[in-house]
Amino acid sequence: MKIDILTLFPEMFTGVLGTSILNKAKEKKIVEYNIVNYREFADNKHQTVDDYPYGGGAGMVLKPQPIFDAVENLKKGEGKPRIILLCPQGETFKQSKAEEFSREDHLIFICGHYEGYDERIREFVVTDEVSIGDYVLTGGELGAMVMIDSIVRLLPGALGNDDSPVLDSFSTGLLEHPHYTRPADFRGMKVPDILLSGDHRKIEEWREKESLRRTYLRRPDLLEGFPLTEKQRKWILEWEKDK
Ligand code: SAM
Repeated sequence: MKIDILTLFPEMFTGVLGTSILNKAKEKKIVEYNIVNYREFADNKHQTVDDYPYGGGAGMVLKPQPIFDAVENLKKGEGKPRIILLCPQGETFKQSKAEEFSREDHLIFICGHYEGYDERIREFVVTDEVSIGDYVLTGGELGAMVMIDSIVRLLPGALGNDDSPVLDSFSTGLLEHPHYTRPADFRGMKVPDILLSGDHRKIEEWREKESLRRTYLRRPDLLEGFPLTEKQRKWILEWEKDK
């Protein structure tokens, strides 16, 4: 996968992309990062990328020209990249979107700043407008890092075999079950007996039930439309009665 990032603050990405799984994926040539400062594409003497909004009002607006030119330059190669605008007004980013983007060959992230973008960037450049949540950040960089982290860890070979993302929260549609490690008794706090029993069938069933219980208690919204089995339906009825 090729990931281009258009930003006014390239230095923000050094630590995140150069650490842990994101760095290892680059070293294994699973992903290639290209960080572009779109100020370099500004066609004016002072490399200005923003201007006052028509109609007045607070804040500066990103001009169309540097972003149009930077994206056109990146699109010169083969294929059709997904061009993702970081924007609090976009579709809220979810695991399903990370999975969808992880199947692409080329992603271009556009990080905004100031009051926002000239509307023509939204209309004529981007394929996707994505928000990382209902709050406003000063710029798109942190959002791009969040998205890139969640996408790259899904690329085949990015994680070690032991860390398969298949059972992660949201990938299954539910929250993941609780985990325990040694010691079995820590200051009197004990690991559930079933996990020490060696009975793999029972352990799997315990995990399935705890995953569902956790989702039911913490994120019941995830259960809307979730294809429950008969057994799972019965568990939920039991918990309903105990309420
Ligand atoms: N005035 C804009 C509005 O009310 O929609 C907010 C602009 S914000 C201060 C500046 C930039 O930060 C945005 O253009 C976007 O790139 C980024 N940003 C802010 N909040 C974000 C969010 N929740 N998700 C993704 N990007 C965000």
